[in-house]
Amino acid sequence: MDTLERVPIATPFSVGRVNCYLFTEEGLTVVDPGPATNESYEELRTALARIDSRIADVDRVLITHPHMDHFGLAGRIVEESGARVFAHEDAAAQLSDPIGYFETEQRFFEPFLLSMGMPADTVDTVLELPEPYTNYQDPVTVTDELAEGNVVDIGVDLECISTPGHAPGSICYNAVAEDAMLTGDHVLPEITPNPLLTLVPGTDDERTRSLPTYLESLRTVLAMDVSVGYGGHGDPMPDLQVPIRETISHHQDRKERIAGLVADDEPATAYELMKTMFPDLPATEMFPGMSEVIGHLDLLEDEDRVAIEESDGVKRYVLETTDDVPRSDE
Ligand SMILES: [Zn+2]
Ligand SMILES: [Zn+2]
Repeated sequence: MDTLERVPIATPFSVGRVNCYLFTEEGLTVVDPGPATNESYEELRTALARIDSRIADVDRVLITHPHMDHFGLAGRIVEESGARVFAHEDAAAQLSDPIGYFETEQRFFEPFLLSMGMPADTVDTVLELPEPYTNYQDPVTVTDELAEGNVVDIGVDLECISTPGHAPGSICYNAVAEDAMLTGDHVLPEITPNPLLTLVPGTDDERTRSLPTYLESLRTVLAMDVSVGYGGHGDPMPDLQVPIRETISHHQDRKERIAGLVADDEPATAYELMKTMFPDLPATEMFPGMSEVIGHLDLLEDEDRVAIEESDGVKRYVLETTDDVPRSDE
């Protein structure tokens, strides 16, 4: 896509740089400006100066999903430019109050993680760890809430493809005329995006079934048969089908591995299964680790291959042994 410029922006996170994309066809559009740090602000300012533009000139900010490495700086850009802000309607509430959202999530996930067998002191550690990282995002009001099928005209038409899973309110922006797609973190080169557990948008007491939802969104994009992908991290993907197929098969393999860990006679908690799967996981990786294991257990539950037994508020998984249940090979 000739009309787009990729600007890798520094982040304080282990994922490394985040891709910001600039479009200058009709006004100035910034897709995913980066986290709210002075460093990312300066990098964006420098990139804009190269095309004789300033932050104050930004007309539109498009957000792929409500993760702070992508949207954090949007609020500061809007303050300086009065830019319109486009994001999925399911992301709007989180974007306008990211700290409030984080706190609501913590309140939900404390009893949830306990019910999944995580020891109480580990739960405390896991939920407190992200706190210092909440500063890299400023609240931003979405002026243009998007839904599946909406088209945003930024000089090229971008069709919104709703792709929840990695995050609620995740959008891929499909440049139909260019046979190219901005995929955010939905599809990445080299990295398997984590299907993090979150609250279902608009609720404070229900978690997402992130992995089944994510795989469904992946198949949606696969079926669209778009050639080139521009992800939220890393280089452009010249054949978008390749990382999508790899990600689907990665999860297929992992699901079978986890199915192999669930016993048919001794029920185990998701936490116990995670410890078997990833014995040396540091606390910083435990929430993604639990998301991963619970996601695959959700898939197995959807296929009637595991059952859940609950006692004293703790859930344990056991292999479903009924013979008359047809096994899906997916
Ligand atoms: Zn993300
Ligand atoms: Zn990211």
